[in-house]
Amino acid sequence: MPEKIKVTTPIVEIDGDEMTRIMWRMVKDKLLLPYLDMETEYYDLGLKKRDETDDQITVDSAHAIMKYKVGVKCATITPNAERVKEYGLQKQWPSPNGTIRGILDGTVFRAPILVNNIKPGVRKWKNPIHIGRHAYGDVYKNSEIKVTKPGVAELVFTPADGSEPIRKVIQEFKEPGILQGIHNLDPSIRSFATACFTYALDQGIDLWFGTKDTVSKIYDARFREIFEEEYEANWTNKFNAAGIEYFFTLIDDAVARVMKSDGGMLWACKNYDGDVMSDMLASTYGSLAMMTSVLVSPHGYFEYEASHGTVQKHYYKHIAGEKTSTNSMALIFAWTGCLKKRAELDGTPEVGDFARKIEDAALETVESGIMTGDLMLVADPDPHNRKVYTEDFIDHIQENLEKKL
Ligand code: NAP
Ligand code: MG
Repeated sequence: MPEKIKVTTPIVEIDGDEMTRIMWRMVKDKLLLPYLDMETEYYDLGLKKRDETDDQITVDSAHAIMKYKVGVKCATITPNAERVKEYGLQKQWPSPNGTIRGILDGTVFRAPILVNNIKPGVRKWKNPIHIGRHAYGDVYKNSEIKVTKPGVAELVFTPADGSEPIRKVIQEFKEPGILQGIHNLDPSIRSFATACFTYALDQGIDLWFGTKDTVSKIYDARFREIFEEEYEANWTNKFNAAGIEYFFTLIDDAVARVMKSDGGMLWACKNYDGDVMSDMLASTYGSLAMMTSVLVSPHGYFEYEASHGTVQKHYYKHIAGEKTSTNSMALIFAWTGCLKKRAELDGTPEVGDFARKIEDAALETVESGIMTGDLMLVADPDPHNRKVYTEDFIDHIQENLEKKL
């Protein structure tokens, strides 16, 4: 057995829930710990632990990422009323991802893992479409009222300096209805823009951005203005030199154009658009389990994870003693993404090389026809394709990895 490769800085390891928690252990035991001399700062964001710590553990994990700059996160349950009952929770804790994003003020970039035997649902797409989701504000930090009787709804801004409040009538309610207030912040939009321009330049791909500024002449228009200001002030020359472009259009036009494109761009999306479009892209590229995700903060913090959730249905089967065929690709790529970034920051290329070997081993496994159930449904038909169980899939990747060491 060759000597283990040293990871010189602790990895911030954020554990999670259900089936992804089960696979997390397997990935560590089979693909990482046998080969890496690696220390982790471990944060258990399993729902029970979040409840026990009044969710302090989530806040602590975000601060650990600020300290070490790089973290890897497992999927976690965002509790709803059912979960509160299921886990006997004190309350409906907020989304851990929302909490962490709020602290790091990051942008989430997602990109599909492409293999040669799975063609995207949209035939024209040859290259991965990367999505950048603004991860602050809008409906995710809203204030809502259920209107039950007639009355006037107003938008009121009260300046802290004691000057005259600004008021606008939203609606004069005669019937029951609903109301929502949302906001965003210039610095957050600006750092979103910066993260997107940085990522596009780093990847050498065009940047597309769309909002509904024809309808929302102040709110959405502000996003467009800030992107344009940033582009003109800091990126025009760099983009020209790299032969890439920044392209703004209305969000609905952007959707239509993306469908007709060859792919290969970064598509910057407002928070809600990114939430919806990234799930659409993931399923068009094959499976949610082939979509990676990284939170990039303008302060230089990186948090890697899979895009999918905790795969609850598979977990219930698992605890009932049934074997599942759950796909660990995106979880594996979360770990390798984290290791590659760690290697870059630490100046330890051997760690990055090892991470790429894991990725190659995983891609080769799927391309050789060994795959989980979700991929069987979308892969090119081939009599050699074989559906394997969760753990067997990781074992096959390990076998391929061993050949590379
Ligand atoms: P999900 O966990 O993403 O799973 C939805 C369905 O997609 C699964 O039932 C499965 O389909 C398929 N799938 C997803 N990942 C897969 C994988 N790795 N391998 C094979 N199939 C996979 O979404 P959910 O069931 O709506 O949410 C479950 C929990 O996850 C919720 O409590 C939610 O709060 C949480 N969540 C967390 C995050 C996060 O932490 N980043 C993100 C989203 C959701 P089949 O059942 O058809 O096989
Ligand atoms: Mg979504």
